[in-house]
Parts: sequence; structure tokens; C-alpha cells
Amino acid sequence: RLRCARVLQLTLAIIKPDAVAHPLILEALHQNILENDFIIVRRKDLIWRRSDSERFYAEHKGRFFYQRLVEFMSSGPMRAYILARDDAVTHWRELMGPTKVYRARYTSPRSIRALYGLTDTRNTTHGSDSSESAEREIAFFFPEFSVQHWLEMEEPCFR
Ligand code: ADP
Ligand code: MG
Repeated sequence: RLRCARVLQLTLAIIKPDAVAHPLILEALHQNILENDFIIVRRKDLIWRRSDSERFYAEHKGRFFYQRLVEFMSSGPMRAYILARDDAVTHWRELMGPTKVYRARYTSPRSIRALYGLTDTRNTTHGSDSSESAEREIAFFFPEFSVQHWLEMEEPCFR
């Protein structure tokens, strides 16, 4: 039996409405995902109701940017991915860059948010911040998907 070279972890990535609105940026981000050795496990294009947005970002309720965040995230189509890789959570967050676009441009000029982010709110992408958040967020977008089942069934050595 093959010894696996890497242990896969799942993360939930979102291409936010600001980027989905631009087909070339959406395509560039999709390529970026593939070029960085992520396996696209699931993918879904959708539009949130305001209540979805409020529920997903409940942890930020009360922050000064909450209303504009909620409004923005339900303003148009977005794309959600379940991505798999070794250290998927960390790798995707590194690719995204820091939350704030001006900081991203300063500290990680090649990151997604530095290249494509418009403002601190309209910052192009989301990525789970831990394996536990990933599981919760995957369930939010893909309630029919079982993380446990996928990790057990998937042959992690196939690439
Ligand atoms: P991240 O998306 O990097 O995990 P947070 O979880 O802290 O960042 O915030 C969630 C989202 O809320 C951010 O991606 C961004 O869209 C928005 N946001 C966070 N902080 C600010 C801020 N200071 N000003 C405006 N929008 C913000
Ligand atoms: Mg976060």
C-alpha cells in the first residue's frame, strides 16, 4: 500500500461578489486555485439573501463594518469552493493575503487581496480561519457534504 505523501485538509473559500462581477478576475482566481495544488472538491455559484449574510457573519455583529459587510455579501453572485490540500486553511489564507487591502498591498503585494481587492470590505475572497471553522462553513454552503466521509473515502495519494 502506498504511503501518502501528504495529508489532505479541507477549507471553505469564497470568491466574493466584487470579483465574481468581473469574469477575467474570476477566471484568474480559479486558475490561481489550480496552480497552487488545491483539489476542487465542490463548487457552487449562488446569491445570498441578507439573512444568509447575517448568519454567516454573526461573529462580527456589532462591529462598525457589519452592516456594509452584510449588504455587500448579499449584493450579487458569489462562488464558494470546498478546497483540499495539505494545510489547506493556511495555504489559502496566505494566497488571499491580509484582510485589509492597504495592508495586503504593503506586506504581500502578490496576494489576491493586494492584486484585486477594492476596499477593506470588498476584499475579493474569504477563507476559513481554522479547520473547525472550515467544517462549520462547509456545512453552511454544502449541507449535504460530509467532511468526515470525504476524508475517509478519498485516496490522498492520487496526485
Ligand atoms: P477575514 O475575511 O480575513 O477572515 P474577518 O473575519 O476579520 O477577516 O472579517 C470578515 C470580513 O469583514 C472581511 O473579509 C472584510 O470583508 C470585512 N471586514 C473586516 N474588517 C473590516 C474593516 N476594518 N473594515 C471594513 N470591512 C472589514
Ligand atoms: Mg474571518
